[in-house]
Amino acid sequence: MDFDVIVLGAGVVGVSAALHLRDRGRRVALVDRRGPGEETSYGNAGLIERSSVMPYGFPRDVGTLLRYARNRSTDLYWDYRALPSYATWLARFWWESSPQRHAAAARDMLPLIERSVAEHDALVARADATSLVRASGWLQAWHTGSRFETEAAHAERTAREHGLQVAVLDAAALRAREPSLGQGFAGALHWLDPKSVANPGALVARYARLFAAQGGTFATGDATTLRQAGEAWTVQTAQGTLSAREVVIALGPWSDTVFEPLGYRIPLRAKRGYHMHYRPERGTLSAPVVDSERGYVIAPMEQGARLTTGVEIARRGSPPTGVQLARAEAIAKPLFGLGERIDPTPWLGMRPCTPDMRPVIGPAPRHRGLWFAFGHNHHGLTLGPVTGRLLAEMMTGEPTFTDPRPWRAGRFG
Ligand SMILES: Cc1cc2nc3c(=O)[nH]c(=O)nc-3n(C[C@H](O)[C@H](O)[C@H](O)COP(=O)(O)OP(=O)(O)OC[C@H]3O[C@@H](n4cnc5c(N)ncnc54)[C@H](O)[C@@H]3O)c2cc1C
Repeated sequence: MDFDVIVLGAGVVGVSAALHLRDRGRRVALVDRRGPGEETSYGNAGLIERSSVMPYGFPRDVGTLLRYARNRSTDLYWDYRALPSYATWLARFWWESSPQRHAAAARDMLPLIERSVAEHDALVARADATSLVRASGWLQAWHTGSRFETEAAHAERTAREHGLQVAVLDAAALRAREPSLGQGFAGALHWLDPKSVANPGALVARYARLFAAQGGTFATGDATTLRQAGEAWTVQTAQGTLSAREVVIALGPWSDTVFEPLGYRIPLRAKRGYHMHYRPERGTLSAPVVDSERGYVIAPMEQGARLTTGVEIARRGSPPTGVQLARAEAIAKPLFGLGERIDPTPWLGMRPCTPDMRPVIGPAPRHRGLWFAFGHNHHGLTLGPVTGRLLAEMMTGEPTFTDPRPWRAGRFG
């Protein structure tokens, strides 16, 4: 046996899992067809979202549903050709988003969210990556005064309940804080506990470099070559055939390409999203700003001002539409003083989503030595390191820092 564990997928989840396993003395090979952190973990908005104590549910208010039905929103766009393949998944997502079930999902997620920043901090220090992470929090901005006031009152209650810090900024205070902003926002909530990353792909690459420095092995290969042979799992890579007694599927939105052939029917679907970088014309933001009423984010990144879009429901592999990017760009350019586009084409990524808003972390129910770590929805960057810890604790038989049952794969039947 070459290794104790093969981790398939070098996004933030796979790299973190590999690192935590290596820290516990396991001989670990990390396999990806690309370099570490070059897919979903590269293109996100860079929020380490400690304040997201409610996962993204399916909205239930009539106004939002009508807006979605007209398909003219910035925050959600759907390709009607994808709806048949998403229908069951969306129905389950709707069901799981009832007030009671949504609250249960939030309760389950809390132990992971609460540790998210501390787990990143520990890896950032070890990986010499402090220059990539800002203790900036993020700003949640609103256009409509009455909406802002309602949300501010709600945010203050949430902050009290969860021990979070939030500052309420009216329009003048917001512009004093972020002088590059134009007119248009009635105010913003400044969530102070989260952190933001100036280049999420580079952060994952630093974590991967730390893994290698600790004696971990990185190999380039195709995860779909995974085979079980007796007690061993094997994978074909450019460095030859790797084998190990245990294997972790951490392939983000592609995890189904490996678990489905093994007979697992886990409802994992992609919520697509785009980004584009712009030259800032009026200066750089000090923290990411989420335009909550229009549903996009502007995040200051090493590459420029990164606009990330809301959710696109479309078939995997179907060509990029760019619809939401065009809609968000028209709103954001004057508001944020965005200059010309920097990237030749928009980046398209896929949030790996489960309908119950929880990731899948733990042993595969029917295969010895097979482990799952995927489905981190909108918060995979946030939850990568804490997932790595939890999975490594489970795999090595240590006491786990939280009850792992909410994440078990068998919950989908
Ligand atoms: C627009 C957008 C904005 C977001 N903003 C945030 C945010 O601000 N904060 C936050 O916490 N989360 C955010 N997310 C979500 C977050 O980016 C994801 O949840 C997270 O990156 C998932 O990480 P992962 O490691 O599971 O998947 P990935 O990063 O996609 O890693 C999977 C890896 O598997 C590899 N792979 C796939 N198939 C194969 C194969 N056959 N063989 C070998 N390798 C393979 C890929 O190359 C890839 O490296 C955002 C997502 C999007 C799309």
